[in-house]
Amino acid sequence: MELRQPSSAEEAVGLLGNGHVALAGGTEIVPLLRDGLLRADALIDIRRAVPRGIHGTTIGAGTTLAELEVDPGIPVVLREACRLAASPQLRAMGSIGGNLLQATRCWYWRLDFPCYLHGGDRCHAKDGRHDEHAIFGNDVCASAHPSDVAAALLALGTMLRTTARELPLAELYRLPTTDDPQTTTLADDELILELEVPIPEASVYLKAMDRQRWSFPIVGVAAARTAGEVRLGLAGVAPVPWTLTSVDDLDRATPLPGTAYKLPIARALVARALRAVATG
Ligand SMILES: Cc1cc2nc3c(=O)[nH]c(=O)nc-3n(C[C@H](O)[C@H](O)[C@H](O)COP(=O)(O)OP(=O)(O)OC[C@H]3O[C@@H](n4cnc5c(N)ncnc54)[C@H](O)[C@@H]3O)c2cc1C
Ligand code: SF4
Repeated sequence: MELRQPSSAEEAVGLLGNGHVALAGGTEIVPLLRDGLLRADALIDIRRAVPRGIHGTTIGAGTTLAELEVDPGIPVVLREACRLAASPQLRAMGSIGGNLLQATRCWYWRLDFPCYLHGGDRCHAKDGRHDEHAIFGNDVCASAHPSDVAAALLALGTMLRTTARELPLAELYRLPTTDDPQTTTLADDELILELEVPIPEASVYLKAMDRQRWSFPIVGVAAARTAGEVRLGLAGVAPVPWTLTSVDDLDRATPLPGTAYKLPIARALVARALRAVATG
């Protein structure tokens, strides 16, 4: 397989698409290639093409989670979401741009079952084991988006700048349908360049895990109070990072038999998060 190393975003965009795939830290993409879940003719190493580093409220998409978790200028909710993600080794390599674009952890998908997200005609998880799956947005695919970081960025009201457009983070994602398995709106030849992250008055990230370290979220709740308004972002509850517009949204959850236990966890974490940002 070919490896290309463009030195600018323009050059990278010209190389991407048609089986040429962007590579940042490689923590996600290398296992997918190894397991045959992703096929690529060429890898486009974007590390010289995408900004890296923190400048005030602007974060380069190439910035690693390890860099974010120790920077005192980064809001608590995002630092904590980074600190609680993955392992120190993965956080040292993994970029925030790559984190937002990680694939589902659904084991049926990872084992290449021919489900909706692989272009098939059913959700194997709904008919089988789905304890780690969704309680919202699970009409077609019931996977649970694993990004703690995206939940934090949703709560903060983050804007993205790509090589093609500026957009609120929520618009990066879409729920898959029976005829379109995509979970993001990013084009094959589009790169995330920077994130604009407002500084909140108070923020918090709370994560329920099946062990205390190095685990994907069962439920992650991010809350941030900005200009007096509290926003909530959730991880591990829907096929895409999930925004709660109010606590009442929890009454509209659609848990599966195996994921019903997540709802009381979400309620408890949301209540705790709201208390924390009310005064924090
Ligand atoms: C074992 C394990 C445990 C983990 N646990 C957690 C966890 O608990 N919480 C959590 O939030 N995350 C977790 N992660 C995810 C981890 O944080 C991501 O794998 C990492 O951040 C991805 O970044 P990367 O730079 O390595 O991406 P890569 O692997 O290089 O790329 C990932 C994807 O993003 C695309 N891409 C990368 N950068 C850009 C860009 N700037 N523009 C456009 N496309 C881009 C690539 O083409 C690829 O499709 C875990 C991962 C592993 C492997
Ligand atoms: S939850 Fe989604 S990824 Fe998993 S089997 Fe169902 S359709 Fe596939």
